[in-house]
Amino acid sequence: MNIILLGPPGSGKGTQAQKLQRDRGMVQLSTGDMLRATVASGSALGQRAKAVMDAGEYMPDDVMIGIIAERIAQPDCAKGFTLDGFPRTVVQAEGLDRMMAQKSLTLDTVIEFKVDESALVERISGRYTCAGCGAGYHDKFQCPAKPGICDICGGTEFKRRTDDRAETVQARLDKYNEQTAPILPYYAAKGILRAVDGMADIDEVYRQIVKILG
Ligand code: ADP
Ligand code: ZN
Repeated sequence: MNIILLGPPGSGKGTQAQKLQRDRGMVQLSTGDMLRATVASGSALGQRAKAVMDAGEYMPDDVMIGIIAERIAQPDCAKGFTLDGFPRTVVQAEGLDRMMAQKSLTLDTVIEFKVDESALVERISGRYTCAGCGAGYHDKFQCPAKPGICDICGGTEFKRRTDDRAETVQARLDKYNEQTAPILPYYAAKGILRAVDGMADIDEVYRQIVKILG
């Protein structure tokens, strides 16, 4: 099963994609994480990606589609994948459709995370991840069982994204509303759009997703 999680930054897409990966083997394709890994590698593409991301811009569509196409050709994605953070514009959605059609892959479901924008600043400014395995946590909403120790890998180092500051959240939300929200009717017209209550707690959101996916 191949799905997309769609919602504003901080709505819980990454959190749920990680759960789907652990429970169902669906590969999480977080384009933000993929890009940040490319930047960290220091390659030519990484340097270009860094300049674009530092300016708060999106990477060119063909670059993003190329990165995703390469990743979904790998054998682990045959079990299915969850796109988290892509597409962000209708043009990207159309490009993704074309690329998947070429590979004879089907997009089964798009899940919209419905959230109150007022909740997102607190979610984004409190989030952090394990430096070892990338597991996501939150200062208030998702603490490791043992403080300071990753539940998944036992790691003790954690990191925060530099763009996860309260000051930048509004600009990211505005961009979501202008450019990404218009994708919703695109998928609704295809009959594959479903929604979950992103304001519910993490386990409840997951139950809603599992119910949709069957
Ligand atoms: P996105 O991938 O949509 O940007 P994340 O999954 O990173 O969002 O979630 C943002 C932060 O909010 C994370 O720290 C996460 O632990 C926390 N979070 C995710 N889902 C919920 C939820 N349903 N209730 C409370 N906090 C949540
Ligand atoms: Zn870890």
